[in-house]
Amino acid sequence: MNDLTMAQLEANCDCLGLDQVKANLASALEEAARTNQNYRDFLAQLLEAQVTCQQERRSAGRIRYARFPYQKTIDQFDFDFQPSLDRKRIKELLTLRFLAHGENVIILGPPGVGKTHLAIALGLVACQQGECVYFSTAEELVTSLREGYTDNRLKERLRFFAKPKLLIIDEFGYLPIDRLGANLIFQLIARRYEEGAVIITSNRSYSEWGEVLGDNVVAAAILDRLLHHSVTLNIKGESYRLREKRKAGLLNRPVEECKMTEQDRVGTFQIGEN
Ligand code: ADP
Ligand code: MG
Repeated sequence: MNDLTMAQLEANCDCLGLDQVKANLASALEEAARTNQNYRDFLAQLLEAQVTCQQERRSAGRIRYARFPYQKTIDQFDFDFQPSLDRKRIKELLTLRFLAHGENVIILGPPGVGKTHLAIALGLVACQQGECVYFSTAEELVTSLREGYTDNRLKERLRFFAKPKLLIIDEFGYLPIDRLGANLIFQLIARRYEEGAVIITSNRSYSEWGEVLGDNVVAAAILDRLLHHSVTLNIKGESYRLREKRKAGLLNRPVEECKMTEQDRVGTFQIGEN
């Protein structure tokens, strides 16, 4: 192939945004000539590299958009350390069927048991599978909705948090939420109900959500919608963060377990009763 044709081909690649085709073109042509490769295989091979690269870029873009606080995968999760966790249920969740059905996942347990890690791992898989994900702590979410409320832009904020196929709300219950905050969360959950999946992590049992939200009625209304189609993972183990310290003998008392009731285990709730 003469230089002019090659230059034209490269310019056309630029025009179409086929940067991988352009990068691989010269070597692919050489290889094809050397091995007598047929036209179909030649084209398939060139396009394959382009498609793979574009998928990786889009996936990376979705991961950036999601704003995960850190990236941890399910392969990095030590199930042996957390025997209360059913691997089969996690495996089922990783198929993302819950996303397709707009089901929610509520991960309960004391600090350090891997709630955020699991939520992120599921979120990462969703991003890789082409889904839009957004991660927020409960506090950030309430702050943002509250700002929207004050600035007369609540609708916009609700639309923003309702849009992702998967919304992860982390650390629900670490800080108390006032009445307005509770009301705003209710509006968001009601909006996402049966439309988009939510993953919530919390160190508080369902029976304590009324206390967190300062309003038993709103808490019941939120839980009613959240739990209608949902999976509850109740992690009962010890903090992974403190594992090393315990190993080194720096701690000797077991970390206080999150107060879980039988109702939490089966996914029902009774506000205000433990
Ligand atoms: P939680 O959200 O329950 O407070 P995190 O998910 O933030 O806890 O976990 C705390 C740290 O310990 C993270 O770095 C996480 O990756 C790690 N971790 C927790 N549980 C496990 C586990 N079973 N296997 C591997 N790493 C874990
Ligand atoms: Mg956490």
